[in-house]
Amino acid sequence: MEKLILIKYGELTTKKDNRNYFLNLLEKSINEKLEGISYKIEKDYYRMFIHTKEIDKIINKLKCVFGIHKIVVAYKIDDSNINNICKCSINILNNTDFKTFKVETNRSDKTYKINSNEVSKVVGAAILKNLKNVNVDVHNPEITLNIEIRKEASYIYYEIYDGMKGYPIGTLGRALLMLSGGIDSVVAGYLSIKRGVSLDFIYFESIPHTSLEARNKVIDLANLLNKYGNHGKIYIVNFTKIQEYIYKNMKSDYLITFMRRMMYRIAEQVAKNNDLNAIINGENIGQVASQTLTSIKAVNEVTNYPIIRPLATYDKLEIIDIAKKIGSYDISILPYEDCCTIFVPKHPVINPKTEIIQKEEEKFDFSLIEEAIKSIITINIPHQEKTSEYL
Ligand code: ATP
Ligand code: MG
Repeated sequence: MEKLILIKYGELTTKKDNRNYFLNLLEKSINEKLEGISYKIEKDYYRMFIHTKEIDKIINKLKCVFGIHKIVVAYKIDDSNINNICKCSINILNNTDFKTFKVETNRSDKTYKINSNEVSKVVGAAILKNLKNVNVDVHNPEITLNIEIRKEASYIYYEIYDGMKGYPIGTLGRALLMLSGGIDSVVAGYLSIKRGVSLDFIYFESIPHTSLEARNKVIDLANLLNKYGNHGKIYIVNFTKIQEYIYKNMKSDYLITFMRRMMYRIAEQVAKNNDLNAIINGENIGQVASQTLTSIKAVNEVTNYPIIRPLATYDKLEIIDIAKKIGSYDISILPYEDCCTIFVPKHPVINPKTEIIQKEEEKFDFSLIEEAIKSIITINIPHQEKTSEYL
């Protein structure tokens, strides 16, 4: 009997015609993650098997790969004779510490002579007979011994770990994440990567009103997202002149609305120029004045591009939970000013009016947008070894 790792795909199984496309990208993600370890992958339509001697090490790494539903430590037996299944089940559980158990059988090989219930009963009885001080508990067992009888072999297992779920990185194309250095946008980025989207990042800075530390913080956050298998670069936009112009010349309670409209205009151009199919940000309904539905609508009017807001309906505490889990929270709360927090009006408008916006924007010098796009700095973030505990 061989001890190996069995990977269950979960949501990938809903893909029919293009399942192979997803599975090939999953295999690629796994290969990247397992670099330097000795193993062999064998995959079929329903699951993947990893043959290796380094089971524990690999399991820890697989826990951070998107597109995996469950990671199972399984024992493969070539001889599916019921006596052999009983013998192997007893061997597997012999050195395991437990008091209660149940057996569940799944028989995809319908030509197998004994039905699933019967197999569970026979194996359960053999375990009771051969192992001391153990009892069956069908409702709340400490251990569930799973037996899968398939044509080519049978698999027995009880050790199952949760995978990251979602889709393998890059299966759903590329997008541009507006990354601010706050708590929200990096979480929005993480959730998008989880759904198979590859990200590049755009960051708006207002030096000297914002510092290089603020920029470095954003680079650190982008780097963190890249550790989840993403390979994105950062576009850094010099937003100083635009912000100063708005601050000096335009209606003060609409300042954030104008600023965000300019951000969207620039982000759309950067996305188009770089073949990125959507813009993603950390906006959240009602969190601040610029995120009321009317404000979101007023800002959104400048673009036809898809704007994805993964956090639109999350509570702040839910967002913070994810931020802590993915290791971004401690970076995000470092106290460096963001360009949005510097030029904040005393009473930002909650329900911006389209007529006022249009009239005010007639005053705006749109060549500043062209200038900002021309002077973008692109940073390729080096791929670093994983540092976060979660990874
Ligand atoms: P965050 O915690 O992500 O900073 P926030 O609650 O502070 O979000 P806003 O400042 O209104 O919200 O920004 C909403 C979204 O706009 C951010 O989540 C981010 O996606 C984007 N954004 C804001 N400021 C910047 C910036 N300086 N550079 C890039 N994107 C930004
Ligand atoms: Mg912010």
